[in-house]
Amino acid sequence: MNWDQVFASRASRMKASEIRELLKLLAQPDIISFAGGIPDPALFPARAFQDAYAAVFAENPGAALQYSVSEGYPPLRAWLAAHMATLGIPCTADNILITSGSQQALDYLGKLLLSPGDTALVGWPTYLGALGAFNAYEPHYDRLDPETNRSAADYAETAAAKGGRVKFAYMSVDFANPTGRTMDRAARERVLEMADDLDMAVIEDAAYQALRYDGEAIPPILALEIARRGSIEECRTLYCGSFSKSLAPGLRIGWVCGAQRAIAQMVLLKQAGDLHTTTINQMAMDRVARTVFDDHVAGLRRTYAERRDHMLAALERHMPKGVTWTKPEGGMFVWLTLPPQVDGADLLAQSLKTQRVAFVPGGAFFADGSGCNTLRLSFSLADKATIDEGIRRLGLLLAA
Ligand code: PMP
Repeated sequence: MNWDQVFASRASRMKASEIRELLKLLAQPDIISFAGGIPDPALFPARAFQDAYAAVFAENPGAALQYSVSEGYPPLRAWLAAHMATLGIPCTADNILITSGSQQALDYLGKLLLSPGDTALVGWPTYLGALGAFNAYEPHYDRLDPETNRSAADYAETAAAKGGRVKFAYMSVDFANPTGRTMDRAARERVLEMADDLDMAVIEDAAYQALRYDGEAIPPILALEIARRGSIEECRTLYCGSFSKSLAPGLRIGWVCGAQRAIAQMVLLKQAGDLHTTTINQMAMDRVARTVFDDHVAGLRRTYAERRDHMLAALERHMPKGVTWTKPEGGMFVWLTLPPQVDGADLLAQSLKTQRVAFVPGGAFFADGSGCNTLRLSFSLADKATIDEGIRRLGLLLAA
């Protein structure tokens, strides 16, 4: 069977990365890994989930095991609407679609918005999973950079020359994956202005929103847009939230919040895709969110903030001249920029061989193939002694 002859053209845009192959080595026990961007399982509210699942089974096993509505479990949507209001986003449950993780929301947004040849504006670098989700819809990418004064007309003409139009701007707004950077308020406002000029949607990926350790909270882009327009129904921003970093990723529960016109259209994709997010998981998540969300997130912030501080101090001690890094106010990542001649992927291969330290080379996060002299470190999983030792070894390698 020649599978390439039957695969759709979109399949050629879906590539397994070489980095994934290298990172398979992570399973080896003596590797110190700063590669994974995942929460520390020791911090999951396991007891709260155990109680919640027991209560759901005791009280309503029929509903818990049954099909349910595509929009999502109504009490959880109601909790999320109230939660969004605390972030400056007044809305109702009808403005919320529950998805199987925010990753599914990114896939559906690509499906909803991109015809082949259209342009998506993304940062250089961008969350790899977003590029992976959008790639299947065969877009072109152009660089979203609110710092430059590139005109809307220039973006529009570039997209038209490639046979489509600009459909959306996507960004990871708080403590971004992979850089750890947060967009300031002025940059968020500029994105909204650009969105008006280009008549495009804005995809606000807020996966790390709850994990702020210091500095002042900046209103979500959707909140800034509602302040301008008066109602969420007039807004072009679609906010993608997730319980993965705040409570537990294994239940696969995320949500999209936005104008009902867009949410209703996404519900049709959900129906066609997987009918609905797992019923029992939504029911358990509803109970856990109501009982422990605020206290639990406060505890996570304390623990992760210490790990971040420890990693930043270790970098200060061990990195040679010529290496710079971000100072994230939250999230899980520090982003290193190496001297221009150092290739992050080569460095990973060497590091695994000689230092037994893993990280993610930055090049893959750049839609244009640039940024090879960068790398992403995650501080979410490692204890202090491991952070010290791993960063010391990485410093040795870079000094050599
Ligand atoms: N957005 C960003 C920026 C992420 O880092 C991740 C997970 N690493 C996701 C979305 C997807 O997370 P989930 O599907 O678990 O909500």
